[in-house]
Amino acid sequence: MSPTYQVLTSAGASVGTDLAAWLANGGGTGLRNALKDPQGVIGVIEQSDLRGMGGAGFPTHRKWAMIAAHKDYDKFIVCNGNEDEPGTFKDRVLLEHTPHQVIEGALIAAVATGSNHVVIYVNPHERRAVAAVELAVRQWQSHALLADMADGVGGTVSLTVCRSSGLYIGGEETAVIATVEGGFPFPRRKPPYPADKGVRGCPTVINNTETLAHVTHILANGAAWYCSLGLGTATGTKLYSLSGDVLRPGLYELPMGTTLETLVFEHGQGMLQGRSFKAVFTGGPSNTLLTKRDLDVPLDFDSVRARQSRLGTGAMIVISEGTSIVRKVAEYVDFFAHGSCGQCPPCKGGTYQLARLLNRIDTGHGVGSDLDALRSLCSILPGSGRCGLIDGAVTVVESSLRTFPDEYEAQLLRA
Ligand code: SF4
Repeated sequence: MSPTYQVLTSAGASVGTDLAAWLANGGGTGLRNALKDPQGVIGVIEQSDLRGMGGAGFPTHRKWAMIAAHKDYDKFIVCNGNEDEPGTFKDRVLLEHTPHQVIEGALIAAVATGSNHVVIYVNPHERRAVAAVELAVRQWQSHALLADMADGVGGTVSLTVCRSSGLYIGGEETAVIATVEGGFPFPRRKPPYPADKGVRGCPTVINNTETLAHVTHILANGAAWYCSLGLGTATGTKLYSLSGDVLRPGLYELPMGTTLETLVFEHGQGMLQGRSFKAVFTGGPSNTLLTKRDLDVPLDFDSVRARQSRLGTGAMIVISEGTSIVRKVAEYVDFFAHGSCGQCPPCKGGTYQLARLLNRIDTGHGVGSDLDALRSLCSILPGSGRCGLIDGAVTVVESSLRTFPDEYEAQLLRA
């Protein structure tokens, strides 16, 4: 079996939420290294080629450099732990079992960017994760290491926890900002980007939970060590949330660049009940489907993008022959329709229409014109919302229509 790396998933596993134990077991090294050379931290992250693990894969050092350039007194680092997408369950595990590596990564981000506010943003539905994070933050608040950061950051650093609304849309960057400010999680159009105008109008970086956990280990062990963990041109490791029709679903930390075939057939031990692999919803349900032809794809940001899809969060929802793609897509579009915040009529009405058509086709009540209606919606809806929710819903519908047209036709023949 190909190697598994347990950088994130074993770090601090034996110490849980005990900060003293975390520090006694090597924790704090990354933060101390950052404090020795605050100006050098962004360069180390650049050498590591760390990307945002929440979906977009944006280079972390570039995000940080944008707010480091601002000379404002108040700047914010927000650790986004809202995670509410079907098939994604990595951030909850990190926050629940090893919160100190995440918090330390957020503090390192504050040192690197000169930020004096650090907010850990958690999903209230994940009660154990919330309890673990709140306990961990209380310990950091009274620890000398946090006070030591004042010199590196140029002022006292506040470290707080903010509970999100628990809504899917609450994880969108501008909705995170609205929630931290005490408002309803309504996304807004960008620009202005959070780096220029974020929480309370201050420069703000919003990083995914997993991204910040990687930061802790990069600063402790160096960029060269981190790069050596990846396969091919990819660097580091990745948490893959494997679910669906596999024998052994679960959370796997593997070298970035592990192939889809290795993940599914070695670590996931293949398909349930001897069925054949049909497709995978990669990065959650809002990206282009990968099929049998793509089993050889290395699961890193650039390789998956070259197949016209996205690695996203690293969620892999595996579908076997015999499982209806139309049913799965209908379920996911239902999720988006319920998740729409309703600010943009094309999103609220469009996701509802997509879900209605898909459910009608799936239940054998569709008519021939329903496929034309679906395709028409897929052509007019993209870009019509303030955030990416509507685009995600359209992508999965359009991708399934293009990849599995026979399944839609067969459902219509049942009518
Ligand atoms: Fe809300 Fe949808 Fe508009 Fe996003 S696109 S702001 S979810 S209505």
